Amino acid sequence: MLPLIRILIENIFKPPITEDISSVNLPKHPKGFHGYPEHDPTRCIACGICQYFCPAKVIKISQIDDKINYHMDLDQCTCCGQCIDYCPTNAIKHMPNPYFVTTNLDDFKVDHQINLIKCAKCDAFIPDMTLIANKLFGEGKPIPKHLSMCPKCKRKP
Ligand code: SF4
Ligand code: SF4
Repeated sequence: MLPLIRILIENIFKPPITEDISSVNLPKHPKGFHGYPEHDPTRCIACGICQYFCPAKVIKISQIDDKINYHMDLDQCTCCGQCIDYCPTNAIKHMPNPYFVTTNLDDFKVDHQINLIKCAKCDAFIPDMTLIANKLFGEGKPIPKHLSMCPKCKRKP
């Protein structure tokens, strides 16, 4: 019993063993390695495809009135890249650096908000395709017909 108590007391006064390497220059990662997915809310049309295909249930998309909350729990992410492969607007990319080092679990949480507009025809809240199309095709470029329709009533908002 006594040796155990001695070890416990010694451990209480020992410094942490885990080294903080967040500021260390790590070696260049091997080709083909990639980081966590990075979501760009300005390209996102909130279609939900990434949420559907994510095998680890990392992505949760919810709507409250005229806002979409796009949430990711990256601590559950396996970096499989399914969300990136299936996203129709390239709104998700791999972070270039695969070494994501943090001591704070909250750093793995992503919360983005996407503002919706009201369709003048059916009153449904829908993504502002003008903003998103400008980002996808270039400022002032014509928006493809299917993208300028309300996804709910299929009419021009
Ligand atoms: S990389 Fe894979 S596990 Fe991570 S969020 Fe995308 S689909 Fe889910
Ligand atoms: S698949 Fe792309 S566009 Fe669709 S919700 Fe996910 S990030 Fe947004």
